[in-house]
Amino acid sequence: VPGIASVRIALTSQRTRRLSIAVASGKGGVGKSTVSANLAVALKAGGRRVGLVDADIYGPSQPKLLGVEGSQPTAKEKVLQPVATPFGVPLLSMGMLVAPDQAIAWRGPMAAGALGQMMDANWGDADTLVLDLPPGTGDVQLTMIQKHRPAGAVIVSTPQDLALIDARRAIDLFKKAGIPIIGLVENMAGYACPHCGEVSDPFGKGGAEAAAADLEIPFLGRIPLDIAIRTASDAGQPPASGNLPEAAAFTAIGDAVLR
Ligand code: ADP
Repeated sequence: VPGIASVRIALTSQRTRRLSIAVASGKGGVGKSTVSANLAVALKAGGRRVGLVDADIYGPSQPKLLGVEGSQPTAKEKVLQPVATPFGVPLLSMGMLVAPDQAIAWRGPMAAGALGQMMDANWGDADTLVLDLPPGTGDVQLTMIQKHRPAGAVIVSTPQDLALIDARRAIDLFKKAGIPIIGLVENMAGYACPHCGEVSDPFGKGGAEAAAADLEIPFLGRIPLDIAIRTASDAGQPPASGNLPEAAAFTAIGDAVLR
């Protein structure tokens, strides 16, 4: 019956068919937000339509990383409209939902409510959402996993974090919930000399790759500790957006995520 067929088509086209990628870490300060921002920008450069959800309730840094500090989302009929960024990646951040000088000390249900509002925002034609989660294995991660069911998780770790098993705990949380682990990114792996660019490995090399093999998850690549990454990030210019040599590492991770 032609009538039924056209109703079906209308329903599918309305449904949001979006790939959501959670970016998680065992603890703070390992570069999870940096990787999230640059992964989003790299995927965008690769032709996807990407939105970014900054759910890091303890340190929402995406507005700064994407150069839109102080911008506020609008709301239309109670639906949030993400903030446009210079990199073509619309953004919503926990940091936009509270006053900037207010310590984010929300209880679980408030954070879950804010997360829901960001996930249900008007993401327009975005086909991919990158989700920057708080570090560790708390309420926001559980709500994200149970309620919003990301398609997969990228785990960011420093070599030390893996040694301290925090990253393993984060991996375990996703595995137990049946969310596939897309892979492990080793950040701050080796030190890139600001003068000659040579990467040296004061803590040795290959530990994270071996740990990934041990945990039977893909290894997505290593990003050195590199002053250019920090200065570009602090200036609201994600290294993946420019022609810094540092962009290549993030592009490679974006490619690995989509494989
Ligand atoms: P997290 O989200 O895990 O708390 P951030 O992404 O905020 O970590 O990074 C913490 C700090 O380390 C930031 O100042 C960031 O610019 C810096 N940083 C992250 N990755 C690198 C890197 N590969 N090289 C140099 N600095 C980095």
